[in-house]
Formats: sequence, C-alpha cells, structure tokens
Amino acid sequence: MTAHDQIKEPSFRQSVDMMFNRAVALMDLSPGLEQKIRVCNATYTVRFGVRLRGDIHTFTGYRSVHSEHMEPVKGGIRYSLAVNQDEVEALAALMTYKCALVEAPFGGSKGGLCIDPREWDEHEMELITRRFAYELIKRDLINPAQNVPAPDMGTGEREMAWIADQFKRMNTTDINGTACVTGKPPNAGGIAGRVEATGRGVQYALQEFFRYPEDVKAANLSGKLDGKRIIVQGLGNVGYHAAKFLSEEDGAKITGIIERDGALHNENGLDVDAVHSWIVKHGGITGYPDASHHTDGGALLEAECDILIPAALEGVINLSNAERIKAPLIIEAANGPVTAGADDILRNKGCVIIPDMYANAGGVTVSYFEWVKNLSHIRFGRMQRRAEESRHQLIVDELERISNDSTIKWTLSAGFKDKYLRGAGELELVRSGLDDTMRAAYQAMREVWHSREDVDDLRTAAYLVSIRKVADSYRAKGL
Ligand code: NAD
Repeated sequence: MTAHDQIKEPSFRQSVDMMFNRAVALMDLSPGLEQKIRVCNATYTVRFGVRLRGDIHTFTGYRSVHSEHMEPVKGGIRYSLAVNQDEVEALAALMTYKCALVEAPFGGSKGGLCIDPREWDEHEMELITRRFAYELIKRDLINPAQNVPAPDMGTGEREMAWIADQFKRMNTTDINGTACVTGKPPNAGGIAGRVEATGRGVQYALQEFFRYPEDVKAANLSGKLDGKRIIVQGLGNVGYHAAKFLSEEDGAKITGIIERDGALHNENGLDVDAVHSWIVKHGGITGYPDASHHTDGGALLEAECDILIPAALEGVINLSNAERIKAPLIIEAANGPVTAGADDILRNKGCVIIPDMYANAGGVTVSYFEWVKNLSHIRFGRMQRRAEESRHQLIVDELERISNDSTIKWTLSAGFKDKYLRGAGELELVRSGLDDTMRAAYQAMREVWHSREDVDDLRTAAYLVSIRKVADSYRAKGL
C-alpha cells in the first residue's frame, strides 16, 4: 500500500460507518434515530494481570456493546495481537446488523483480547481466559440474559468451555448459567453443528445465490456451483469448513489457499483436508506437496478464479489491491475483508459481493439455537425423534401390506426405507434451521436489490433490511 493510499483508507469502524451511511441515506429515518443506531453504546476496556512464568503479565481486553435494542447482546471473543477498540466496535456494529438480518433476537456486541495464543501453553491460556472471563462476568458483560459471547478468530470450543465454567463458579445458583456463552463443546452444553456452522452457512449462502440465474448473471457467471474455481484466504474454522463442504458436496474446485506464511495454487483443485492436516502438523502451508507455492500470499487474492472467499481477517481487499482483483464474485466469510473504498472500486467493476453480515451469519444462527437449547435444558429432537420414526414406520408397513395383498407387485426403491424411517437428530435439525435461515435472509436481501432502482448491490440491500428491523425495534420500545 502506498503512503497516499494509507491516508485515504479509513479505519475498520469508519469503514462500517461509511457503508451504514450509504444505506441509511436511502431511508427515511429521523436524524436522531439514525444516530442512535449508528453509534456504539459502550466499550469496556480492562487491563488485568496474570502470574505466569514467574512474573506478572498484563493483558488488555475489550467488550463492546453496540446496540441493546434486544437483549441479550451477542458477539464473539477474538484473541489476536491486532485487537483494539476500533476493531471490536466495528465488529460489534456488524453483529447488530447481522442478528437483525437473520432474525436472531439479539443486540450486537464483540470482545477481544490482545494476545497471540500461540505464545502460551494450554494451562497458561486457561488461566488467562478465566481471568478475562472473571473481569467481564463481574460487570455482567458475560451473562445469559445480558451478554452472550461466542468463538471468533483465535478462540474455539476450549475457551468457551472455560468461560462457561467460570461463570458457573461465580453464579452457583443460576440454573441457566450454561447459556452465558455459545460455541461450547457438546459435552459442556454445546450443540451439534456449531463448530462447522459459519463455514456451513457460507456454503448455504452460495447454494442459495446459485439458485437464481439472474443473480449469477449479475456476477458474470453462469451455471451452478459445480466446477467453479474458488480461492480461499484463511484455512481456520470458517475457511476450512466452507472450502471442505463446497469441494466435497457441491463439486467446486479449491484452486487456491492463502495462509499467514504464503499461498498454495493448483488449477486442478487442492485437497482441503490434506492441506488442513498439513497446517495442523507443521504450523503453516510451507512445504506442502502437490501445489505451487507463493511466498507473497496476498498476491493470490488477485488471481483468476470464479469465487473469492476471504475468511481470515478484515481489510485485506483495500485501496491498494481492489483494482487488480479479478474474481467476479466475492463472498465475505470474514468480517470486514473489503474496505469501504475497495467496495466502491469493486462495485464499479461489476463485481458482486455477498456481504459479511449475511455470509458469515451461520455462526450466530447456530449460537442462537445453542442458547435456546441451554435455556430449555433439552436437546433438539429428543421428544419427537422416535415418535416421528414410528409414524413413518406405520406408512411403510401399510405400503408393504398393500403391495403384498395386490396382484401387481411393487417394491420401494433401494435406500428409501432407511432414509425415510430415520427421524431427525440434533445435527439434522440444526442444519435444517441454518439452511432455512440463510435462504430466507438471502431472499430478503435480493428482494431489495432487485426491486429498488437506487440499490445496486447486496451490501446496501442487507443494510436496508437490517437497519429497518433495528429501527422498528427502537420505535416499538418508545425511543
Ligand atoms: P480462525 O482463527 O479459526 O482462523 C483464521 C485463519 O486465518 C487461520 O488459519 C490463520 O492462520 C489465518 N490467517 C491469519 N492471518 C492471516 C493472513 N494475514 N493471511 C492469510 N491467512 C491468515 O478464525 P475464524 O473463527 O475462522 O474467523 C475468521 C474470520 O471469520 C474472522 O473475520 C471472524 O470474525 C469471522 N467469523 C468467525 C465466526 C466463527 O464462528 N468462528 C463467525 C462469524 C465470523
């Protein structure tokens, strides 16, 4: 990036505000309500010490609450050295719009801790996480009724289990304590399908996009997902699951994978599981066979492909490279990967961007299911599954009886009985609820995209749908 570009590039939070402003200018909200929705309500900064390796180490953490038009507020906790107040506030704002868009009944929040998790061992990470959680819990910034975190970059099931346990130690009589955080492991109150949820949501979002030939044509593409060439940046939780499902189930080819230490490229398609295992074992993609290597990973963002999936961090497509991006379709699996300036450039080039607030909403959607499961204290499907199977069995038995009694013999096709008789378990129900959510939210966005002359992109459409819902909610409260 040149010094000139750096001056023009706004911060992440400013970038989100600029996108919000572009949409809100097309609405008829009062200036006061507009401002109320835009601003971040509060950001708490905490510095706390933990005795480690014979000395006291001080860490800085944040929890930002963007909007409390619905409570609890919701949003992940990120562990990264790049965490700062501007970033958590931008991410908290995106959570408000995301929850409204997919009708998850939460306000927006986000948290972060300035830390490189790779520098500390598991026991040290537990001490640090529990102490951070303690600081947030005692101020009700983690609470099943007020503020419910989830995993984000650098955190996962392990951290969520520690946080839930910490909350329960401090609130021993709260029967709903497990619902204080989502993304927990299944054996600690989690839900089937949460780990894969955000990547699965990216897959469902693309499947829905490709159901509309008109939308596919707007991106200068044709046909289905089958055979499409995809480049993914970041093979972490979100990127790995999205790439895995799209290649294994939809016939897409992952032709490029960009990671911290460079990029891999293979026009015949990369084996996502093999690359993922290599990264887990070796700490990066360096040395991986069966692909050409690029030391400058970012350069592969500019390579020829059909779909680009930035799934690592914000600001990677910016004023310095937007003009050279060739992908006709970008799906923002990460939060904020395209800056406001880059968004302008790409739109003018005719690139279609499926925006972050929709594309990565699978995580919060399944987190919502987990929260409901925790509050109802029963796993989804537990009451219905066998009853559903018995009713299906009745039909199959009856069909077979009719066939036996009839002179014309017919048989059920192979595999039908197995599939039809199996009642839906928690994982099937979660995937079904997620698929339905992703389809409905896409349809709400595309309706605005195609019906309004003044809306020419999905991001503005997404903002219009979600701001309208947040505004209605504030109005209903009498604000
Ligand atoms: P993660 O920590 O599991 O994975 C991030 C991956 O990106 C890692 O593989 C890391 O090595 C790679 N990476 C980091 N810096 C990079 C760089 N400069 N270039 C290339 N690769 C780089 O994180 P995640 O949970 O998958 O989150 C990724 C993005 O998705 C973030 O923007 C996050 O806010 C967003 N998101 C995550 C969830 C979720 O459920 N985890 C939900 C919604 C949105």
